[in-house]
Amino acid sequence: MVTFLSGGTGTPKLLRGADGVFPPAETTVVCNTGDDVELAGHLVCPDVDTVLFLGGDELDLDTWWGIADDSTVTDDELHALADAAGLDGGPRYLPDEQQTTGRRIARWRRFSGVAEFMLIGDRDRAVHLTRTGLLDEGESLTAVTRTLADAFDVSWEILPMSDDPVASIVHTPEGPMHFQEFWVGHEGEPTVEDVEFRGEPDATDPVLTALSEPVVVGPSNPVTSIGPMLAVEGIEDALRETPVVAVSPFVEDEVFSGPAAKLMEAVGYDPSTAGVADAYDFADAFVLDTEDGTDLDRPVVRTDTELGTESDARRVAEAVDDAMEAVS
Ligand code: GDP
Repeated sequence: MVTFLSGGTGTPKLLRGADGVFPPAETTVVCNTGDDVELAGHLVCPDVDTVLFLGGDELDLDTWWGIADDSTVTDDELHALADAAGLDGGPRYLPDEQQTTGRRIARWRRFSGVAEFMLIGDRDRAVHLTRTGLLDEGESLTAVTRTLADAFDVSWEILPMSDDPVASIVHTPEGPMHFQEFWVGHEGEPTVEDVEFRGEPDATDPVLTALSEPVVVGPSNPVTSIGPMLAVEGIEDALRETPVVAVSPFVEDEVFSGPAAKLMEAVGYDPSTAGVADAYDFADAFVLDTEDGTDLDRPVVRTDTELGTESDARRVAEAVDDAMEAVS
C-alpha cells in the first residue's frame, strides 16, 4: 500500500503514469482541500476534482482542471446575464455574516455566483451540485468523495485531507484574499506578504490509516497544496512516523510552473529544492532532477523529473520506488 499527497497539477501528473509501479488498487491519494470554495452555493474542490477526473479518464489534460470537452452553456449564460444587467464580475464575496452561518464546510470561502469568476463546465458543475447536495443531506466530504470516485470508476482511493473546512488565505498589500481570488481572479499577480490557513481541521480516521503506509509527496506546491495538509491536526505527526519520499517541484531554483516560488519566499523558505527540503523536514528521501545539484542531508535519487507524458510519469514513479526502498 502507498499514499500520495496531492495538489491539483504536479502530483496528478505523476499519478497519471504511476500505475505500473504503484497498483491503483493499493494506492490512496489524499487531496488538499484548502483551495476549495463555495461558488453560487456549490462546493468546488479543485484538487479533489482533478484527481477524480484523472482517475476516471475524463480530465482535460491541457489545463489539468475540468472535464475534457465539457460545454460551458451555464457559465456563458451567467456572463451574458451579468453583462446585460450591468453586474460587475467580481469575485463577489457574500456579506461577512454569511461567511460564518449556514453550511460549516463553506466557511470563509463563499462567493456569489453572479458572473462567476471561475470557469465551471456543465458536467463539472453537475459534480459540484451532487457533492453539495450529499453534504446538505448530512454526509461527510470523505463519504461524498468516495461516492463520486465510484461514479467516475476511479481505482485509487481518493480522500479529502479533512472533513473540516480550511481556507488558504493569501495576505497582500491590498488585504487578505482567498487563494482562488489571488490565483484565478488576479492571475497570481498581487505581492504576497504571508499565507494563512484559516480553520481548525482534524485528520479523519481514513487519512490517519492511509498515513500509516509509506507516503509519496508528489511535486506539488509546498505552501498552498501541502501546507494546508500540514495544518491539519495529526497529519504532520503521522508523516514523522512513516517513510516519506518527496519529489521536488523545482530544478534547483527553477520552478516547473505556478506560484510556488513566490509563496515560498513569502513564508520564509528559499524558493528552491533546498527550501522544499527545509519545509519537508519529515521527508526521509527525495527525488530530484538530474540537472539539480542541490546537496541534501537525506538520500536522493535523480532522474529527469519533467512530467509531460505518461512515460515521464512512469520514470519518475520508478525513481520514487527506488528512493522508498532506500528508506523503508
Ligand atoms: P496546484 O494545486 O495546481 O497548485 O498544483 P500542485 O500543487 O499539485 O502542483 C504545482 C506544482 O507542480 C508546481 O510547483 C510545479 O513546479 C509542479 N510541476 C508542474 N509540472 C511539473 C513537472 O513536469 N515536473 C515536476 N517535477 N514538477 C512539476
